[in-house]
Order: sequence, then C-alpha cells, then structure tokens
Amino acid sequence: MDLIELDGAAGEGGGQILRTALSLSMITGQPFRIVDIRAGRSRPGLLRQHLVAVQAAARICGASVEDVAVGARTLTFVPGAIRGGNHAFAIGSAGSATLVLQTVLPALLFAGEASQVTVTGGTHNAMAPPSHFLARAYGRVLAAMGAEVEFALRCFGFYPAGGGELVATVQPCAGLRPLALTERGARLRGYAESFVAGVPASVAARELACIGKGMGWREAQLCCHRLPAEVGPGNVLLITLEHEHVTEVFAGFGEKIVRAETVAYRTLDCVRRYLASGAAVSEYLADQIMLLMALAGAGSFTTDVMSSHARTNAEVIARFLPVRFEIVPVGVAYLVRVMSSRR
Ligand code: ATP
Repeated sequence: MDLIELDGAAGEGGGQILRTALSLSMITGQPFRIVDIRAGRSRPGLLRQHLVAVQAAARICGASVEDVAVGARTLTFVPGAIRGGNHAFAIGSAGSATLVLQTVLPALLFAGEASQVTVTGGTHNAMAPPSHFLARAYGRVLAAMGAEVEFALRCFGFYPAGGGELVATVQPCAGLRPLALTERGARLRGYAESFVAGVPASVAARELACIGKGMGWREAQLCCHRLPAEVGPGNVLLITLEHEHVTEVFAGFGEKIVRAETVAYRTLDCVRRYLASGAAVSEYLADQIMLLMALAGAGSFTTDVMSSHARTNAEVIARFLPVRFEIVPVGVAYLVRVMSSRR
C-alpha cells in the first residue's frame, strides 16, 4: 500500500493529526509518514502523551516504527494486524490517559477478540476529555453505534502529579452503525459534581453554589466529592446533561490563581452556549465522534461550535477513508454530514 504523507503543521497543527492517523492506519492497514508533528504548538514534536499513543498503537497492531523519542518531529508508521487481549500503557507523567485510550480504542473494536486496556497518567486534564466525558458522552455515542465498551476509572490523575488509572473493556464488533445525532431530545437529567483532592471542600461548595444558581438546580443535583489528598492537588467541576439522544459533559478545572466562581462561570458559559444553540452535541464531542461516523461510512450531527480542531480532523480522516464532511451553518449551529466520497 502507498504511504500516506501527512503534514503535522496543517490546519490546527496539533496532536490530533497524529492520533487520528494512528487510529486509522491501524484500522485500514495504510502506512503513513508525518512530518512537522505539532508544528502549530509552542512545544512542537512528541510530548509523553503522544509518544505513548504511538507506542500503544504500535504494540496493539505490531507496527514497525522507527525509534522515536519525546521531541521527535517526524514518524513513519507501518501497521500490522490488530491484536486484542490485555494491554497496559503508562504515560509516566500527567499526560492525558484519555487521549491515549481514544487513539487505540476504535481499532480494538475491529480486533478478533475482546480487549482490556489500562492507561495510567492524567485522567482529568485541561484540554483533554475527562474520563467521565469518555464514559458518559463519547461512550454513549459508541453504544448508539453498536459498540460495546465499558470504562472504569480506578484512580483520578490530575496535572501535574498524574498517577491516574483508566481501564476500558472493548468487545469486538462487526462494524459501526451510522448515527443521526441532529436532535438532543428532551432533558432527562442534569447534575453537577465537583471533585477535590488536597483542595478545601469549600472550593467545591462555591463552584456548586454558582452552578445551582445559574442552572436553577436543587441541592440533590449538586454533589461534592472529596478525594484522598494524596491524589491531588486537583479540582474538576463537571456538569452533565442527559438528553433523550445524547449526553454531554462540561468540565472546568480549578487552578491556584483562579477563583472557584470563575471556574464555575466559565463552565456555565459553555453549557449556556450549547443549550441556546439547540445543537445535539457540543464542541468537543463533535470533533471526537467524527472518526466514529467516518468509520460507519455515514452519519450526521449538529454542533454549537465547529472548531479548527474538528475541521483539521475532517481533513486527516479523509486521507484514510473514502468519506467527506459537509458542514452547513444552521442558525447559530452547524449541521455536519458524513458521506461517501466515492462517485
Ligand atoms: P496538542 O494539540 O498540544 O498536541 P493535545 O494532543 O493534548 O495537544 P489536542 O490536539 O488539542 O490535544 O486535542 C484535544 C482533544 O481533547 C480534542 O479532541 C478535544 O475535543 C478534547 N477536549 C479538550 N477539552 C475537553 C473537554 N473539556 N471535554 C471533553 N473533551 C475535551
């Protein structure tokens, strides 16, 4: 098969170009070469998270990869057959365990046997899906497309300590079913949780008070979880909205110099933008389900934000699969359709 040549500086120029290429190379068997990895970022090249994603993908499909290390800017990946079974990967820093898991998970759906993948590292990092998002939002889409995947959070991992542990159990499936996710449907449940580790519980209480007021929620919908101090320091605020057809999880991350109220209001802003748009999925779920819908060969969704991350992802996906993404603005939202590019 011909080598697919990718420019890591294209579009957003971030780590997703590499992760999407790894996932789809494993599944389609097409080798790729990428240059200028993460050229659009302030610290270009592979970080620990990206390196472990490469190693995990290579191990699972017996790929041949040249010797790469943190900082590498080019990579050639020649995949082999996907192997299920038990796999464990350690990031060795607070790099995102969820992003490593998301790189290999789609390929494991196409393995000959069930798999259990354990990744240690960060489970609740800013700029990555929190593990709760994977289990509730991304996991629900997978299930609706016919995949059987279970996520278990064994231990929280916050930046900078890391040390979290996330396990996914993946059953092989014959193929993903196309999904139309254009309506969110009626609200079934809404709740907020604040997790604190080595951070005063009053921080969680202040965040939850703002969310309660902002969303008009009762005490029973606001939950404070105190984690063991040694897991921290860390604080994550999660707002979960379960609708008839989709579940969304909005996250805010506590920082030393940022007031609890500010964390809460920023998270509320994202929730309000989503609710006002009428779209079924929000910015982050949108870019994450594109690969799944492309694997199904068809599908559609509405989203409140069509990020440059998502647009870049669409371009990388179309290099590996015979699909194209049609993006149509609809009021303040977007309708995204995945369709065959074959005539
Ligand atoms: P870099 O771009 O620096 O290489 P990276 O590889 O860690 O960084 P990105 O390429 O920016 O990450 O991708 C981040 C991914 O994390 C995206 O798929 C995005 O949808 C997801 N994400 C970021 N924040 C959230 C959040 N709060 N909830 C859910 N998903 C998130």
